[in-house]
Parts: sequence; C-alpha cells; structure tokens
Amino acid sequence: MKSLKTFFLAIFLASSLAAQQPEWCKKLPRPAYSKLERVPTADPWFEVYRIRPGVFAIYEPRQLEEVISYLIIGGDKAVLFDTGMGISNIQAVVAGLTKLPVSVVNSHTHNDHVGDNWRFTDVYGMATDFTRANAGGSKEDAQAELAPEELCGALPAGFDAKAYATKPFHIAHWLHDGDKIDLGGRTLKVIGTPGHTPDAIALLDEKNGLLFTGDSFYLGPIYLYRPETDLDAYVVSMQRLAALAPRLRLLLPAHNTPVADPGYLPKVVTAIQQVQHGEVRPVAKDGKHEYLFEGFSFLMR
Ligand SMILES: [Zn+2]
Repeated sequence: MKSLKTFFLAIFLASSLAAQQPEWCKKLPRPAYSKLERVPTADPWFEVYRIRPGVFAIYEPRQLEEVISYLIIGGDKAVLFDTGMGISNIQAVVAGLTKLPVSVVNSHTHNDHVGDNWRFTDVYGMATDFTRANAGGSKEDAQAELAPEELCGALPAGFDAKAYATKPFHIAHWLHDGDKIDLGGRTLKVIGTPGHTPDAIALLDEKNGLLFTGDSFYLGPIYLYRPETDLDAYVVSMQRLAALAPRLRLLLPAHNTPVADPGYLPKVVTAIQQVQHGEVRPVAKDGKHEYLFEGFSFLMR
C-alpha cells in the first residue's frame, strides 16, 4: 500500500515537473548531437563533444542560451574560446581535457560568453570600449538568465542564485583584427566581426578549414536587437565571413549546435540584405520582430 502511494506520488511529481518545463527544453536534445562524439565529464551542468582532433565543444544545455564554448588545443598551448555562463566551473572541465596552458579569448563580451573569465589569468580582449566596460562585470543580465522559463532542469548543487553575477575579469592582452594566436602547430586568426556587438570576433583555423563564428552566426534566432548592435556593420562582417566560405570545411557557432555548413554564410548575407531592403515580412516574437529563413532567423527590434 505504501509503495503504491509512493508510486503515484512519483508519477505526480514527474508530471508536474514536466509541466513546468519550458517549450524549448522539451525539444532537447537537438538532433545534431546524436551524430557527435560525446566525451564524459564529471560536472552534469556541461556536455562535452569532440568535434575534431583537439577541438572540443563545451555545451550548457540547461539554460535557454544553450551557449557553446570551445577548447582549441595546439602543440604548446590551448585557447578557450568563451567561458560560458559562469553558472558552473568550466575551468575544471577544461582541466580534464588538457594539461597545456590555457588562454581565454572571447567571441564577444556578452554575459553568457564571459561568465567564467574571472577564473583565468591569461585573458585576451578586443581593444574596444565595450570590452573594457564589460570586463568590470555586471549583475542584471546574469540574473535575467535565471528566470524559470530560461532554465531546463536543476541548477548545480550549491549554486547561489541570489549572488549570481558576471564577475569582473582582468584582460592581460589586447587583440586587434588580423592578429594571430600561435598554439604550436595550429594558428588562430582573429577576424573582427563587429555587428552583434562592437567587439565581436570570429576565429579562423585556416589549416583545418574551421571557423568559430561566435554570435555572428548560429542555427537559431540571431540576436540583432540590442542597443550595442550595429546592423550595417553586421552586414559588412558577414560579407567578410562569407568570402571565406569556399575555403572552409566547418562552422563552429556559439549557440545551440556546434556544427554548421559553411554554405550558410552567403545565405546569411542574402537574407540580411533582403531584410534591409524590406523584402521579408517579420513575425512577432516576444515584443520583437523575427525574420525567418531556413535554419536560422534574425531577431530584431
Ligand atoms: Zn551575444
């Protein structure tokens, strides 16, 4: 009798938990992940995938941003391209993947990409005022990420939601468009891609045909509505990236799925120009306008 009660209680709890799940969460895992090589990691907040030899995607599927940071390993050192939400400890995950010295480079300094920068001493930053301001940390954007509809499952044990903020971090080196970072047997070229933010960059691993696109391109709604977004600059940046497409084998974006076809880049250029010329009708979404295309969309004011 007691076990029957426990059984029904368990069903009730499971169904009420499912009812609380936001829609985006119910659709996970995204189909693309079934084809990727998962690497075990002790922290359940993260999922780690080996995308190429020496290239790991570190994914945070339990928060709406579904942010993806990348560990890119060379012969002498490694670059961590973004540090994620700062909700759990990405440094501990990275330590389990490489013993080499790790430098942090950010795709841009929005809170969901710099959350664990404070844990690292060797951080590169773009020489922009936007970067300098964001290195001071903030609480508002971080707190907004914890709204119930933004979460999919439990936060890490011991996580202090009330204190959650983007902690200030120290920038050790200033980066400029065209700079190269030599990892030993692998070189990453910095491509300035202002638009989404003034300090947005992509990283090009030319030898291996890999382009880490940050938030300039991913499969999903691309955010182009914030006050720091410059749409004209975004178009120019995407034209630059699209010109690289014939030499690329893979795009590795900063949200949702860690693999995308380089053929998307020229499609994004065509799409954003159609939007600018008023040739596409948007749909309303969360008080904003969403312009839908196959595989991606633009979320604008
Ligand atoms: Zn962003």
